[in-house]
Amino acid sequence: MSESLESTVDRALAAPRNLSVADLARLISCGEGADAEFVRRAAYGLKVRCSGRKVSMRGIVEIGNVCAKDCHYCGIRKSNSKVERYSLGVDEVFAAARRDAQMGYASLVLQGGEIESEANTRFIEECLERIAPLDLGVTLSLGEQEESVYARWKAAGAARYLLRIETSSKELYSRLHPGSHSWERRRECLAALRRCGYQVGSGTMSSLPGQTAEDMARDIVFLGDIDVDMVGMGPYIPHPDTPLGALPEEKDDAARLTTGLNMIAAARLYLHDVNIASTTALQSLAPDGRERGILSGANVIMPNVTDTGYRRKYQLYRGKPCLDENASQCRSCLERRLASIGESVNYGERGDSLHFKNRTAKGG
Ligand code: SAM
Ligand code: SF4
Repeated sequence: MSESLESTVDRALAAPRNLSVADLARLISCGEGADAEFVRRAAYGLKVRCSGRKVSMRGIVEIGNVCAKDCHYCGIRKSNSKVERYSLGVDEVFAAARRDAQMGYASLVLQGGEIESEANTRFIEECLERIAPLDLGVTLSLGEQEESVYARWKAAGAARYLLRIETSSKELYSRLHPGSHSWERRRECLAALRRCGYQVGSGTMSSLPGQTAEDMARDIVFLGDIDVDMVGMGPYIPHPDTPLGALPEEKDDAARLTTGLNMIAAARLYLHDVNIASTTALQSLAPDGRERGILSGANVIMPNVTDTGYRRKYQLYRGKPCLDENASQCRSCLERRLASIGESVNYGERGDSLHFKNRTAKGG
């Protein structure tokens, strides 16, 4: 006889990594309704146990959409000739970082296309050196790089790095990327980031074409196996000007949102003390998507602090929200939305990953 959902959840709450692939697949595929509510409530309870009724903010600066890669799903992939390319200058990055500090967010993410060159490495160093006096917890999300580059950026002031593995299935990865992109290199980059002393974040996309609940369950186990400190996972959303986005859609937005929320709940129940972002992709699927992500166990939100003039040029998928709201409008909207679910913003706190603190205290 199969175990009751209550017993599975009790087992998950008793200790981290206490679920099998089959257990996780069951949580991920529980749809909407009473079972899903029960699982998400348990995950939210664990989030409150780890970080209280507070949500940490990391303002995200989309520093440029020039990318050397051609991921089949991404709107700013190299071959999308409809994209008008831009790269912010150091002054513009600093202005966005200062906006972030003025909002009281205390953390910042610099994200952009992947460029491997000495000029780009130096540019990021200059940005980091310039924003250092603002005393922000800085995350980079700039793709695959040599370990020496990660080390230079760490020395220049970055504390965290987010590099999604995208999917733990090498077979699925090879269908989502050109042959020149390597899953093994991405995996090796995650190991290099860890060696450099970063708080390491990774994650995957859910609801990818051909992806099963077991694939997604294995994604969560993978994140546990590499001992991530932070998780940034979200639903795949098609972009019409990409090879993947041109395929007939297997799922509608409601189904993508459901799976995305169940993935967050399953990840919280499996990984316990990591930071988990409630990603913008959830908000693209429903206006209250991010709040629902928090109520499913996430504890981080990444509001966009990029100058509004650039936001339309950084569209990874269709329906990107907040294209015209400036950072302070986003701040009041978020405060209101969080208050409506009994949560508040963790102003003035960097919101370091509890998992990172725990593992480094143990010498890990
Ligand atoms: N270029 C860096 C990299 O790939 O790691 C960082 C920027 S990239 C735009 C950030 C993330 O966007 C990727 O890791 C991917 O998961 C996500 N992304 C790209 N296209 C997407 C889509 N169509 N739907 C959902 N997420 C997408
Ligand atoms: Fe470039 Fe990242 Fe988009 Fe891939 S996901 S095309 S690496 S920006």
